[in-house]
Amino acid sequence: LHYGRIEVGDSKINSFLALSRERALIQAGKIDAMAAKGEVLPTLAGVPVGIKDVLTMQGAPATAGSLILKGYRPPYDATVVTKLEAAGAVLLGKLNCDEFAMGSSNENSAYGPVLNPKALDRVPGGSSGGSAAAVAANFAVATLGTDTGGSIRQPAAFCGVVGVLPTYGRVSRYGLIAFASSLDRVGPFTRNVKDAATVLQVIAGQDHMDATSSDRPVDDYVAALSKPVEGLRIGVPEEYFGEGLDPEIRGAIETVLDGLKMAKCVVKPVSLPHTKYAIPTYYVIATAEASSNLSRFDGVRFGLRDAEAKTLSEMFRKTRDAGFGAEVKRRILLGTYSLSAGYYDAYYKKAQQVRTLLTRDFLTAFNEVDVLVAPVTPTPAFKLGEKTDDPLQMYLEDIYSVAASLAGVCGISVPCGETKSGLPIGVQLIGKHFDEATMLRVAQVVE
Ligand code: GLN
Repeated sequence: LHYGRIEVGDSKINSFLALSRERALIQAGKIDAMAAKGEVLPTLAGVPVGIKDVLTMQGAPATAGSLILKGYRPPYDATVVTKLEAAGAVLLGKLNCDEFAMGSSNENSAYGPVLNPKALDRVPGGSSGGSAAAVAANFAVATLGTDTGGSIRQPAAFCGVVGVLPTYGRVSRYGLIAFASSLDRVGPFTRNVKDAATVLQVIAGQDHMDATSSDRPVDDYVAALSKPVEGLRIGVPEEYFGEGLDPEIRGAIETVLDGLKMAKCVVKPVSLPHTKYAIPTYYVIATAEASSNLSRFDGVRFGLRDAEAKTLSEMFRKTRDAGFGAEVKRRILLGTYSLSAGYYDAYYKKAQQVRTLLTRDFLTAFNEVDVLVAPVTPTPAFKLGEKTDDPLQMYLEDIYSVAASLAGVCGISVPCGETKSGLPIGVQLIGKHFDEATMLRVAQVVE
């Protein structure tokens, strides 16, 4: 059924880069056989799920939206893929994204942009644009995306679906093609909060293949949804409601806050005073880590290799020149610059110090409140091509998302209405480290 929908609808949307039909059929067969025998079926039995193309599925292409990985077929599954399948999910295939997850509009994919199913002249957001669009278009019941600086929350808001950024360390990154390792996180897109809680439950937990994954026990997210929210303290960070926020988004979030007051939550203002440094800090740290992570794509080990070069260094140069897109090259240059000897203290080290201040902002606020409510993006989905000529404009898209990324706390984008012209609006909830349960509980009241 879902493959049928993809065949009909995805020629326009361009959300899938590869389908894994054979693997899906085998899995569906297994589930059918279990059902026929009357066995108890696992949580996600038969649920069609799509996977962002930065995660590995054994034998399936993994391009990360880049030409440099064309032809690469990883020999192993990401841990999240293994876990989904063990829970009965049927994996449909790999989803389009910005090249190496760098972008906010999915226009940086080497395989063409994804269109927003809710408004075809608009971007779906990025970098997990394909993952958000596939759920919005009903090609999949759930998808996995990754969020380094907003790439789950922002496309979820643009496409009118739910997207969860789990706490750093909650979900294994094993099998994720790294962008910025201290920021990268894997999380689900779904159509409602309950589905998000269910998928998160399956993918969360310690993994010995990822040294940064936490050994804290995983809470029961689904059970948490049935607890009342009465008395929970909701913080409204004043720095997130300044100039530049679209009035319709502001209005929708005010309605959300009214709803929470009606549900007997205590709503109060809080301050995250270093918020204005979040974007520069993020773009120094993320590009520094990216420049290091992307050095492995040298034409020797994976995918593309220039065939004409006469020397090894010429082969490196030509392969990387042809294989990486403009945004990826820009970031490698930015990153190597800020890591270089003369500039390290002024940029990289300074950014790490500010990162600590940003984290402390959240810890201080969470002494007083349980969950924060904020916008996800300053504007609703913008038009294709509108920001492609101005990288800085595109970076400013991340103004409300990157602080939570730097601090490692959890977040979620939940649909909370539409603009007059019918574009989806999302609200962001931010929870304490490892307190996805409370965040999801509030999210369910909001949706
Ligand atoms: N838009 C941000 C960037 O371009 C976030 C990307 C992400 O979260 N993967 O870096």
